[in-house]
Amino acid sequence: LVRIEHLVKRYGNHVVLDDVGFDLDSGEVVAIIGPSGSGKSTLLRCVNQLERPDGGCITVGGQRFEGGRDHPRAELDKLRRTVGMVFQSFNLFPHLTVLRNVSIAQERVAGRSRKEADERSMQLLARVGLAEKANQYPSRCSGGQQQRIAIARALALDPQLMLFDEPTSALDPELGLEVLAVMRELAESGMTMIVVTHEMRFAENVSDRVVVMADGKIIETGPSAEVMRNPQAERTNRFLHAVR
Ligand code: ATP
Ligand code: MG
Repeated sequence: LVRIEHLVKRYGNHVVLDDVGFDLDSGEVVAIIGPSGSGKSTLLRCVNQLERPDGGCITVGGQRFEGGRDHPRAELDKLRRTVGMVFQSFNLFPHLTVLRNVSIAQERVAGRSRKEADERSMQLLARVGLAEKANQYPSRCSGGQQQRIAIARALALDPQLMLFDEPTSALDPELGLEVLAVMRELAESGMTMIVVTHEMRFAENVSDRVVVMADGKIIETGPSAEVMRNPQAERTNRFLHAVR
């Protein structure tokens, strides 16, 4: 479903992604771990072209994006309907109810009627355990609830791929667990996911594969249990010791 080849991203002279590549099959869950500044967020933002790579190539669901050039608006819109993204900050619309937060893009982007959009939103809110919050405003929801609403909103356009950038790092541990439970359920339902995370238990227990980044490079990748329990790279070992 996803192929990343020889990806390069620079900010000025600073090479932030240096020949990064990996493939992702449908239904696979990959966790990306690594120290701060290693390029994890930049990699995710390149996958949905929020950042324009300088070199290499990213293919998502048959759509191919070469680095170093701009892409037509229509192609980017199509890509962003294929790829859902959830950030560390929830970015909900404060002036809209929870239900409308989940519905609005379905009407504006997917062309659904208000009734269709609201029905689909109610299903998704039930799925993340928040049906009873539908008519509240986000400010009346906890951080964990807001993040689950953000996940429902991302799912509302029926993406083939979900990207998560440290979705629990702004939350108290207990609220983070609610969000991780929803993500685990999503993974088990067969969603293809790339998850940047500092939750080593999620990486070990939920993801199929782990990609370890440092200094803009992939230093190690493999099945989650192997990488987490028996890392081959000394740099991975040091990182895991530091965070555990
Ligand atoms: P963290 O774990 O702290 O979130 P990260 O692995 O996600 O880190 P990135 O946010 O991808 O790291 O940043 C990688 C490098 O790129 C960092 O050195 C950062 O300072 C730099 N960088 C990121 N965005 C920009 C930008 N817009 N302009 C210039 N430099 C940037
Ligand atoms: Mg980051």
